[in-house]
Amino acid sequence: MKANQCGTMAEQKRFTQGWLTATQRPQCGNCKNGEQKFNNPDSAFESVIYRCTLGDFATGKTAICNQYEVKPRD
Ligand code: SF4
Repeated sequence: MKANQCGTMAEQKRFTQGWLTATQRPQCGNCKNGEQKFNNPDSAFESVIYRCTLGDFATGKTAICNQYEVKPRD
């Protein structure tokens, strides 16, 4: 699903309502201060952890605080 100003009727309605997917919503996972670290990279035990570089604490991908800042695009 997506929101699109020029898409299908449903996509246009989503666009009008400002609809966002789970990954588009503001969260630590897309915050400028969020950091993603991989444990045991390239192994069967690979896992991802998230840290807040502003507060220097562990967080979750979908968590958020009132210091959220949009991550600039690469
Ligand atoms: S805790 Fe706040 S400042 Fe830190 S990464 Fe999450 S949203 Fe960003």
